[in-house]
Amino acid sequence: MTDRIYLSPPHTGPLEEQYLTRALRSGWVAPTGPDLDAFEREMTERLNTGHALAVSSGTAALHLALIAAGVRPGDAVVVPTFTFAATANATVYVGAAPVFVDCDPATGNIDPSLLAAVIDDLRSDGRRVAAVIAVDINGSCAEYADLLPICRSAGVPLVEDAAQALGSTYRGRPAGTFGLLGTFSFNGNKVLTTSSGGMVVSDDGALVDRCRHLSTQAREPVVHYEHRDVGYNYRLSNLLAALGRAQLRRLDRMIERRRALRESYAKLFAAVPGTRVLGEQDAESNCWLTSLVVDEEAAGWTATALGVHLAAQNIETRPLWKPLHRQPAYASCRAVVTGAADGLFASGITLPSGSALSEAQADRLFAAVESFLEAR
Ligand SMILES: *Cc1c(COP(=O)(O)O)cnc(C)c1O
Repeated sequence: MTDRIYLSPPHTGPLEEQYLTRALRSGWVAPTGPDLDAFEREMTERLNTGHALAVSSGTAALHLALIAAGVRPGDAVVVPTFTFAATANATVYVGAAPVFVDCDPATGNIDPSLLAAVIDDLRSDGRRVAAVIAVDINGSCAEYADLLPICRSAGVPLVEDAAQALGSTYRGRPAGTFGLLGTFSFNGNKVLTTSSGGMVVSDDGALVDRCRHLSTQAREPVVHYEHRDVGYNYRLSNLLAALGRAQLRRLDRMIERRRALRESYAKLFAAVPGTRVLGEQDAESNCWLTSLVVDEEAAGWTATALGVHLAAQNIETRPLWKPLHRQPAYASCRAVVTGAADGLFASGITLPSGSALSEAQADRLFAAVESFLEAR
């Protein structure tokens, strides 16, 4: 059996080994230490933002960001329906209710044309709208030029879930810096990994300080254990921050590889009727994942059939996100939908996109896709 080609596996090497070993030998094997401080500093420099807090996951980062943004139990939070469940889960952790909004079918990002009416409707029903979360799907930034003025005039803070978008920009500005707070994930499948990890960033130091306090059990700065708030144990390990620092040094090269893969897919499918690459017009994307949308009628085949063909050759693919308003866990939530996310779920497939893919694996992957297309 040939080796398995994964969707987006971790990409590590000698530099990661060197950083990790150095951290281990330093004795800082704790959720505090010089690599943690340095990782945060290096991320603020990279993003040109004021403050950063490294935590144990992207989900934890979102949870803290929502608390810092002022979300309270009973509030409504606008959440894209087309995203990974963690985005909505974090709102529930705070005791708020997600209100799902559909996406722009071209990118999968929240549809700005629906937003103002959603906020108005919630308010006329007497609900407090505490935040809008925008997600940068597959690394393509949401349409902030449209979203931010709506949030501003409604007086609702925007929180950017940039879990997928480290290294992307929007009109030249780094992803993660568009909201009152932004969050990243360093999960094993993301562009940069610390195996598990995440980060909260903001230009507002008081908000990040609040997150920092809550991430370390809300321990008050006195000698004994004193707690005014119920805190969380969310801090990233210094060892994993060292891993993150090595990955950050390689970030641009890893993104280059992902972009080259996106380019190869785009070239291959440009000549195939009924297919398009999700978010393909975005030259500023980090190209975290490449997803194909297949119009069965025009193509004469389905995304599912391509997935089955590739699975038989030990190549991993995945359907696009099942909309959250379709998930049993969220079936009772309010949702404003156009059918766009349903359409992407029904007709999309995410293809191997990782920077660890070798040339030989890429050759095998593209040969497998071509053999599928030739047989149609
Ligand atoms: C990966 C991801 C998360 C969760 O990050 P974890 O580090 O796995 O907790 C949240 N939101 C989005 C959009 C993601 O893709």
